[in-house]
Amino acid sequence: IQWEKQVRNSAQIHRSGGMSVLVTGAAGFVGSHVSLALKRRGDGVVGLDNFNNYYDPSLKQARKALLNSHNVFIVEGDVNDARLLAKLFDVVAFSHVMHLAAQAGVRYAMENPHSYVHSNIASLVTLLEACKSANPQPAIVWASSSSVYGLNEKVPFSESDQTDQPASLYAATKKAGEEITHTYNHIYGLSVTGLRFFTVYGPWGRPDMAYFSFTRNILQGKPITIYRGKNGVDLARDFTYIDDIVKGCVGSLDTAGKSTGSGGKKRGPAPYRVYNLGNTSPVTVPTLVGILERHLKMKAKKNVVDMPGNGDVPFTHANISLARRELGYKPTTDLQTGLKKFVRWGSL
Ligand code: NAD
Repeated sequence: IQWEKQVRNSAQIHRSGGMSVLVTGAAGFVGSHVSLALKRRGDGVVGLDNFNNYYDPSLKQARKALLNSHNVFIVEGDVNDARLLAKLFDVVAFSHVMHLAAQAGVRYAMENPHSYVHSNIASLVTLLEACKSANPQPAIVWASSSSVYGLNEKVPFSESDQTDQPASLYAATKKAGEEITHTYNHIYGLSVTGLRFFTVYGPWGRPDMAYFSFTRNILQGKPITIYRGKNGVDLARDFTYIDDIVKGCVGSLDTAGKSTGSGGKKRGPAPYRVYNLGNTSPVTVPTLVGILERHLKMKAKKNVVDMPGNGDVPFTHANISLARRELGYKPTTDLQTGLKKFVRWGSL
C-alpha cells in the first residue's frame, strides 16, 4: 500500500496537458537527467531501475537521492519482471514510457554477453508486452545508439543509412531492439520512437566512459590509454552534451504524445520513428584530452596504443536534420563548454 502510494504520488501531473511517464533506467546517467527535466516542468514521473553494479553503485544511489528530493520515486526492480510491470501499469495509466534501461558499454560485452541479452533484448520484449496489454497503451520512446551505424564509412550518418555492420554485441542488441520495436509497432500498433544517442557526456555521467575515466586519472596522476585506429588515424566521436540529449528526449516524448492523442486513443496508424541525437561536430580523442588538460590545468600521462579488436568504431558523426525538423532538436553546447561543466561538477 505504501509502495502504491509512492508510485501514485510520483506519477501525479502538475501542469495542464502534462504526461505521466515511466522512466526505465532512472538511476542511470541519462535517465536521471530526463526524469528531473520532466518533473521540473510538471509531468508525472515514476522511475524503474535494478541498480546493477556495472559501475559504481554509490553514484546510482546519489542520483536516486537527488531524484527523491525532487519527489521522483524510483522503483527498484528489473525491466524483465513482467509481474512488476503489470503491477505498475495497474497502479498508473502511463501515457508514455521512456525506456533508457540497458546494459551499456562495448568492451564489457566481451566478458558478459548474457547481460546484454537480458537487459537489451529480453527486458525490451517484456516491456513491449506490458505496453501492449496496458490500457491505454503508452507511447514508447527508447534509447537505441549511434553504434548501430557500426563500420559505415559514409559520414555523416543518416537514419536511412544501412545498419548492417554492428561492430560489437552491444551494437547488435541495439540493432535487434530497433527490429523488435518496429515489429511491435506494425503488429500491435504501439507508438515507438527510437533515439540513436551519440556519445553522451556531462555531470552525473558514467565512470566507464573515456571522458570520465580520463578526467579521474589525470586528477590522480595516473596514466590514460588512448586508442589509435587503423593506419595511426585518431578515433573521433560526436560527443553530445547531456542537456542537449535531454531536450531531444523531451521533444520526442511530446511528439510521440501528439500521435497517440489524449488518453492513448489512436488517430490512424501508430507511428514508428528513429532519430539521430548527436552534436554534428566530431572531435578526436587526443583533442578531447587536450581540452581536459586545459580545464584541469594538468598534463595527462598518455599511453597511445593501437585499438584492439574490441568493438570500438573509428568515428561517429550524426546528421541531425530529421530530429531538427521533426523534434525541434538543436544542440547548443560545444565540447569545450560541456567539458568545463563536467569538470566543475567535480564529483570525480
Ligand atoms: P546507464 O548505465 O547510466 O543507465 C542505465 C540504467 O539502467 C542503469 O542505472 C542500470 O542500473 C539500469 N538497468 C540496466 N539493466 C536494467 C534492467 N534489466 N532492469 C532495470 N534497470 C536496468 O547508461 P546511460 O548512459 O544513462 O544510457 C541510457 C541509455 O542510452 C541506454 O539504453 C544506453 O544504451 C543508451 N545510450 C547511451 C549512450 C551514452 O553515451 N551514454 C550512447 C548511446 C546510447
